[in-house]
Amino acid sequence: MRAMVVRAFRTPPELREIPDPVISDGDVLLKVMACGVCHTDLKVRDGLVPHTTAPVVLGHEVAGEVVAVGRGVIGITVGDRGVPYGYETCGTCIECRRGQDSLCESLSGRMGFDHQGGQCDLVRVPARLFLRIDPRLTFQQAAVTTCSMVTPYRAIVRRARLRAGETVVVVGAGGGLGLHAVQIGRLVGATVIAVDSDVARTDAITEQGADHVVIADDNKFADTIISILGGRGADVVVDLVGATASIAEGINAVQSGGRVVVVGYRAGQQVQAEIPDVVFREVELYGCHWASIVDMIEVLDLVAEGALNPVITRTYPFEQAASALDDLEGGRIFGRAALLM
Ligand SMILES: [Zn+2]
Ligand SMILES: [Zn+2]
Repeated sequence: MRAMVVRAFRTPPELREIPDPVISDGDVLLKVMACGVCHTDLKVRDGLVPHTTAPVVLGHEVAGEVVAVGRGVIGITVGDRGVPYGYETCGTCIECRRGQDSLCESLSGRMGFDHQGGQCDLVRVPARLFLRIDPRLTFQQAAVTTCSMVTPYRAIVRRARLRAGETVVVVGAGGGLGLHAVQIGRLVGATVIAVDSDVARTDAITEQGADHVVIADDNKFADTIISILGGRGADVVVDLVGATASIAEGINAVQSGGRVVVVGYRAGQQVQAEIPDVVFREVELYGCHWASIVDMIEVLDLVAEGALNPVITRTYPFEQAASALDDLEGGRIFGRAALLM
């Protein structure tokens, strides 16, 4: 099959012929139809994610059509459209049994990280990790949903437990996940304050449903938010930037009992807070590592119903994966991009 292969870290993917994946009992073979392009792909390409090796086929936001079904698979047939849950979980550890799939204690691999990703014709998927999609969803919508929509959904709905009538601040609102976080805050029924560094994105962020847009290019936004809210802090801050300064400012921007959930991450950055401030104001701090299978099913349904709408502004033929990554790295993609097969 054709695959875009990163032969050594810090080199672009190149078109190569590689053997088709072999499916075993209990697996399905998926013909890839669309694959989202993500900042995490840049990290994997550059060798910045632990436990990855080159050569590697990138792509963890995959949607496609079943072309073969292994023995023992029930309820999935050739022609079914769907997405893989890309972490190959064990299904039996305590985290898996709690439904915290992304925290599985004995993952056998992650699609597009240490297992072959979706920038190719075919992927092997264990049937229990294949999720059928609604006919109303396009392949590109489904693919992009599996990372950039479901992650802010878990952060906001599951981790921070945002409720209608509360206020949520989205830090890094102009990025792919940020635009979706704004939509999710709006869907929950919260007041949404979007923070971004680029004034040129203000209108687009407002279009996603933000009530207020704060432009702050130095990660100083807490005072502005507190003044917008009439002297109170926010209930929830979602940090998609992952910088020491943005998280510290997020902690400053919540009211007593407020929740700060960190989704973005960068190597070498730290959480810094005045401990008495965290204690006396009972600030809650959460991490959010991607999403569970249940989260994925819920979000795919919300997108199919039109309640959430992935912002996909560019598509590329799959052979142009290297240009797509360059454009992403150069800041030339607003929202998300997808490769089409
Ligand atoms: Zn992603
Ligand atoms: Zn497990």
